[in-house]
Amino acid sequence: MDTKKIRNFSIIAHIDHGKSTIADRLIEYTGTLSKREMSAQVLDNMDLERERGITIKAQTVRLDYRGKDGEMYCLNLIDTPGHVDFTYEVSRSLAACEGALLIVDAAQGVEAQTLANVYMALEHDLEIIPVINKIDLPSADPDRVKQEIEDVIGLDASDAILASAKTGQGIEEILDAIVERIPAPAGDRAKPLQALIFDSYFDAYKGAIAHIRVMDGEIKKGSQLKLMATGKTFEVTELGCFRPALMELQSLGPGAVGYVAGSLKQVADVRVGDTITSALKPAPEPLPGYRGVTPMVYCGLYPVDSADYDNLKDALEKLQLNDAALVFEPETSIALGFGYRCGFLGLLHMDVIQERLEREYNLKLITTAPSVIYHVHKTDGEMIAVDNPSDLPDPTTIQYIEEPYVKATVIVPNDFVGAVMEISQNKRGEFKGMDYLDVNRVMIVYHIPLSEIIYDYFDKLKSSTRGYASLDYELADYQQAKLVKLDILLNGEPVDALSTIVHTDSAAARGRQLAAKLKEIIPQQMFEIPIQAAIGNKIIARENVRAMRKDVLAKCYGGDISRKRKLLEKQKEGKKRMKSVGRVEVPQEAFMAILKID
Ligand code: GDP
Ligand code: MG
Repeated sequence: MDTKKIRNFSIIAHIDHGKSTIADRLIEYTGTLSKREMSAQVLDNMDLERERGITIKAQTVRLDYRGKDGEMYCLNLIDTPGHVDFTYEVSRSLAACEGALLIVDAAQGVEAQTLANVYMALEHDLEIIPVINKIDLPSADPDRVKQEIEDVIGLDASDAILASAKTGQGIEEILDAIVERIPAPAGDRAKPLQALIFDSYFDAYKGAIAHIRVMDGEIKKGSQLKLMATGKTFEVTELGCFRPALMELQSLGPGAVGYVAGSLKQVADVRVGDTITSALKPAPEPLPGYRGVTPMVYCGLYPVDSADYDNLKDALEKLQLNDAALVFEPETSIALGFGYRCGFLGLLHMDVIQERLEREYNLKLITTAPSVIYHVHKTDGEMIAVDNPSDLPDPTTIQYIEEPYVKATVIVPNDFVGAVMEISQNKRGEFKGMDYLDVNRVMIVYHIPLSEIIYDYFDKLKSSTRGYASLDYELADYQQAKLVKLDILLNGEPVDALSTIVHTDSAAARGRQLAAKLKEIIPQQMFEIPIQAAIGNKIIARENVRAMRKDVLAKCYGGDISRKRKLLEKQKEGKKRMKSVGRVEVPQEAFMAILKID
């Protein structure tokens, strides 16, 4: 493949602005998949993505397109997720590209993640083609959106493409713009091989599969390659491109986007961001790679069945190959036994990983409440980073605690400014500024504790702005705060996995609410279960789960066997995600109860 005929581009946008649907139309228009093979958002191939209607993983597909000049071009499209938790997916995809389609919803205009993604694309020096999508909608206002793109982002929108992924309008224009406006990759076949690993996954038959972008040099079947970070070498057994299924090719030259599989023993050897080079004629230096990711929240993952501990480790290792932002290390809990402490980019990321572990690896897991990373400064001058509330040292040895703050950017229609301010103030936010995007929309910036964002900031924001608010945030700094550990005792025993770190001002209220919530969640058992909330040695709230009456089943006497069976089945269903803590059976929801209170 002639490098001049390659175009590599990502599709970026705020969530729901139509990235995946535009990708569908491009795939269809170029005949990459037949009508029979197509489905809506065809690149969202994970069950989880289809059920939730969101893109979680970036996906690559090669399109062949005859340009207006009559030449055939090879376009590598990378569809990306829009949610703030998956920004890392986006930034890695951008490093494999020369250009980006920036999709903006013609009715909604520029939103918080539109900005975040554009800034990333600009950092990577990409050629950006603005596309105003959904112009079929009656509420579409492309002129206003063009103006916003110019005023807010500072991009020239005079040649923005007006499109509808629904009707197919503008799709050919997009393809021509990709050929004409996005530069061909640079690269030299004669130079030593340098290929960037921008993603990877584990295939049960082929082993670790690396998604790569070749910068210089060439890879052929049988090539002896070397991973520069780990120094491991391997022979290429298969290589090719994405259509979007794997399609074998004979070679991948400069500028190509594709995959390699080989004789790699350890999945952990393939690291996203690493450079692949030739084992015989290695490049002197690796490519710049990626900025590392810093997890924002941590939680514990414990197998319901302790016999699954090794399976969980194996599953985490394989999943990590497909999710470079996931980190984990072993941890033990007095209540839950052996498990892993895992770091995530946000709650959606955490939720997705838990579900993928359960579905793809057939595990049943208990997840503990998420925690941010606190900086605990001790009286002896030492600073320790604490991501698990039960690791908080004895309060008498603590001088002060700092918690992470984020810069949160909220975009809303004018009418909701008051609502956003009220919510943010209640969440200990500090107002930083406000800008008008146009006559009826504003961008508000707050400095706010990450822990408050994690709780229910976004839900609250959405519900009090009729769904109009969009939010983006990034880690800003650490600030001192009055924080204490809130413990929960079940049946008189402290349960480490239920401890949380809370602000002193709200500690008493949170304790009462949490105890009340746990009373609703913990099922009745044969004996009475006292639930207590405590700060240090002081009990601040108490509730009781009353003992079950023995005749609960006896009631379904006589012929009503089906009702009895239903009752038993329901109990079994509930059991799936239960863990015995001491004598008490605790369901999964109990560990997340802290997220469910106001
Ligand atoms: P993504 O999150 O950016 O990938 O967005 P999706 O492609 O998943 O689309 C979000 C929603 O918008 C889906 O319900 C699509 O059917 C819808 N959608 C996408 N493009 C258009 C369009 O051009 N017109 C209309 N009316 N709806 C669209
Ligand atoms: Mg999508």
